[in-house]
Amino acid sequence: MNLNVTLECPQCGGPVKLDETVRLFGCPYCRVRLYITAIGEFRYWIPPGDKLSEELILVPYWRFKGISLNIKKGTTEARLIDTSFLAVPLKGFPKSLGLRTQSLLLRYLTPETPHFCLTPMSFKEIFPVIQERLLYAENLSVMQEAGSVRDTLYQCYIGESRSLVFQPYYIKGSNIHDAITRIPLPGRPELMDVGVNKPENWGLSFLAAICPECGWDLYGERDSLVLYCRNCNSAWSSSEGSLRKIDFMMVRTKGQCSLYLPFWRIKADVPPIELENYIHLIRFANLPRVPKTEWQEREFYFWLPAFKFQPERYLNIAKIATVNQPEAEPATTVPKEDIYTITLPPEEASEMILALLFEIAKPRKTMIDTYRDVKPSVKNIDLVLIPFQENPYLFVQPALNMGISKGLLKYGRNI
Ligand SMILES: [Zn+2]
Ligand SMILES: [Zn+2]
Repeated sequence: MNLNVTLECPQCGGPVKLDETVRLFGCPYCRVRLYITAIGEFRYWIPPGDKLSEELILVPYWRFKGISLNIKKGTTEARLIDTSFLAVPLKGFPKSLGLRTQSLLLRYLTPETPHFCLTPMSFKEIFPVIQERLLYAENLSVMQEAGSVRDTLYQCYIGESRSLVFQPYYIKGSNIHDAITRIPLPGRPELMDVGVNKPENWGLSFLAAICPECGWDLYGERDSLVLYCRNCNSAWSSSEGSLRKIDFMMVRTKGQCSLYLPFWRIKADVPPIELENYIHLIRFANLPRVPKTEWQEREFYFWLPAFKFQPERYLNIAKIATVNQPEAEPATTVPKEDIYTITLPPEEASEMILALLFEIAKPRKTMIDTYRDVKPSVKNIDLVLIPFQENPYLFVQPALNMGISKGLLKYGRNI
């Protein structure tokens, strides 16, 4: 479930309601087009329905949403995760937010939010606890399926979004009350020994969705992490509160094209596995091809979709692209056809390299024997647009022998 957020348009003050995945939006009142970025994680708070005379204390919860991939000896399984966890070491407070974030309208937390905010522990500190809980849940469901979790070799996460959601409380008499339900917390929760801070260097940035180079309107879907300028043919990625120009490449096509799907082409070392050129790939993946000497010069890249997608199919698509090693060249123009939205940042795609190696290795045992020693180190990442043709149910890439279901693309938008 995605969060719903309300805000006032920074230009005209009009009320705007957005899904949390939206980055690019147009104000329905003043028509300004804005792009939202945050320094660090997005932070939200849940405003109480009616004004309270008591001072609000905002207690942080880490929210973690995405897919866990459980790599097992014979196969890779995926599960959807949507969980929240108390981000301060306080006793007596609920450990998670439960389902309330699904039904309530949230607001972005900014340095101007006029309430006390408790300082959250870092995600790094909290994550082992979340992971333990997820593994416990995984164990329970695996037991129901009469399998065993013990054959999970390696676990990683894909398309995960992390955010902080602050839940309001207030003190009345000697009790701490939940400011949403107005019900006092049971027992005597403590509120001592935690930092209370007024955030300084983080918050939201609303950038005008125009090309920083030529001033033209930027093009992109509402949830895209990359925007394009069709006037000066540039691509812009949002990071840490500003738009940064990025190079991009394209795979050429002779046939027609109705949609470009974005991929991250990643150059990475994966010692002790030798995967630097196409001949190494033929050996590692046991491809039925007779090696040609010139393939020694053909560099090997990992190819990973730059969009969220049904998890098992995600790895499958990455495998097909990686085994085929499409030829890309630097793009000189932004294509006039549609470009599918980029919802998976390159850093997250890079975290999939080990999982992808499990898919490519033939036999899989090669990886089972060596995965503990493999430490991928990323050298370079390029954005590449691959052309696809449309038929009633699929987007098809004939040269790569790849078909992507329209229904699954739609499903991926909501992960
Ligand atoms: Zn406006
Ligand atoms: Zn431009």
